[in-house]
Amino acid sequence: MAIPAVIAHGGAGPGPSRQENLEVAINKASEILVAGGNAIDAAVQACMILEDDPVFNAGTGSVMRTDGSVLTDASIQTSDGKIGFVIAMEDTPNPILVAADLLNEEINGLTSEGARMWADNNGHIKRKVIGVPPKGQIGDTNKQITGDTVGVITRDTTGMIVVATSTGGCSFRPPGRVGDVPLPGSGFWAEEGLAVAATGIGEAITRALLSYKVFEKIKVGKYSLEESMNWGINKLISSKDSVGLIALGPSGPGLGVSNTDMPWATWEQESSE
Ligand code: ASP
Repeated sequence: MAIPAVIAHGGAGPGPSRQENLEVAINKASEILVAGGNAIDAAVQACMILEDDPVFNAGTGSVMRTDGSVLTDASIQTSDGKIGFVIAMEDTPNPILVAADLLNEEINGLTSEGARMWADNNGHIKRKVIGVPPKGQIGDTNKQITGDTVGVITRDTTGMIVVATSTGGCSFRPPGRVGDVPLPGSGFWAEEGLAVAATGIGEAITRALLSYKVFEKIKVGKYSLEESMNWGINKLISSKDSVGLIALGPSGPGLGVSNTDMPWATWEQESSE
């Protein structure tokens, strides 16, 4: 029997510490896992808490695109081979719920109007997301490009690992832009008792296929979580791009590594709990 565990991050970007906000999500996931719930439920519920918390650039707190629109992305993958992702959804404060519904569908991913139509037909009620204006001005060289999205990885007693991520996208990005969060291998990867999730400047993460490369380093290269994540950030990402990673394996607690101030929190069940 595997020992249940959770790790969550609150984005690789400048900003206030969001440690306490993360703990709320970690507590929810751990309660579900301790009660015998599965890793999918735990990851989705924790991710929803973070989407509903306006301090994060995901769901309710999503940053506006350059035209003022608010478009949300989310993804989920299980270590037993299921995947679901949605891209640029309007009026969807909890895109993770739509992504999770895709786990059992023939299709893996949906985008924009089609994604919203599918959500409408599958009972996901439309709700306007007001969003948050980006800090700074377009064209201002001091503008703050934030990447403070959310990600959760859970492990249940069966050893199943699930990764769930959600974002409004980096600030100062146009409405059709696709970041790393909904792209398999870029913003997330889970397989055979191991998962990795990334946050930060999505273009840098996508060019590096970062989550999969780090996953491979751990799985095939047999490097530790820490060595592999440090390698990924230092070797595959330029130091000018804020990027962070979390990972959780088949045993032991999760770990977070970043080249900026990424808040992250982890929990693993104690044998007496
Ligand atoms: N990685 C996300 C993106 O590029 C942003 C973030 O991490 O907040 O859309």
